Amino acid sequence: MKRNGTLILCYHRVAEGVEDPFYLCVRPANFAAHLEEMSRAREPSTLAEVSIPSRRPRVVVTFDDGYRDNLTNALPIAESKGVPITVFVTSGILASHNGLWWDRLGTLLRSRPPHVREIGLPIGSRTVRLPLGSSGIRADLDSVRRHLLPLRVTEIEQALDAVSEQWQVDSAPPPDARTLAPKDLLQLAGSHIVTIGAHTVDHVRLRDRPAGEQQDTISGSKRELEQSISRAVSHFAYPFGRHDDFDDRSVDAVRSAAFDTACTTIPGTARSRTDPYRLPRRLVMDWGRLRFRVQMQRWRLD
Ligand SMILES: [Zn+2]
Repeated sequence: MKRNGTLILCYHRVAEGVEDPFYLCVRPANFAAHLEEMSRAREPSTLAEVSIPSRRPRVVVTFDDGYRDNLTNALPIAESKGVPITVFVTSGILASHNGLWWDRLGTLLRSRPPHVREIGLPIGSRTVRLPLGSSGIRADLDSVRRHLLPLRVTEIEQALDAVSEQWQVDSAPPPDARTLAPKDLLQLAGSHIVTIGAHTVDHVRLRDRPAGEQQDTISGSKRELEQSISRAVSHFAYPFGRHDDFDDRSVDAVRSAAFDTACTTIPGTARSRTDPYRLPRRLVMDWGRLRFRVQMQRWRLD
């Protein structure tokens, strides 16, 4: 039996030959193959149509965070294949050169002086010490990231600044991990296939924050993006997006900020009766054409 509904895909970056410790990049050739494959199996669509019943299964392509390669690498490919994309932008990046904190953390750990075997994270009034270097950089990244994730983003940035100073190493994100500048965002938003969505001001893990802070970062991102592109911003994506990354207060804040939809990264297929403020998505990895085709078939079954 054919099962319809909308498959919403979540990408982050399209790039080649770069450090990718968090598995956020899809290579351009693979991205092009994905768009071809998905267009064959489903009708490319947008979030605005997700609640409208359809006889043909649909697919929606989304990007999270606001990396500059969405403009330079992903957009030309999506335009050439005629597939619309929605880009959820962390609005605070527009006024900052710091990039996203996990990219700074990647730089820091890659440039750890060889004699340094632990990291001391100043968190609140104490210093959390974590061992480093015993099972590789990915393990180090995971362990440090876990401790930083529940903090306010200003606290995370302060902790990274402190480590950078302690170790006397740079912590700027790699140039390829640059985020959208205001003029980049305008150019991206100017494409007829692009919808700009919001992704909070600071990419905080919402669940850990009080209701007021959640409301500020959610509605603030809508306001800042609307001012930047002079257009309504009607779609939202929860940072990180899994069950334990946001809560009912986050959903309430999204609803009262008058967004039309909100995407999670909880796996599934959106149907006409799915809660528009808890839309499921599928995370896409750097798969080749055949692997992507098999994934599409598997996703269809649940
Ligand atoms: Zn994100």
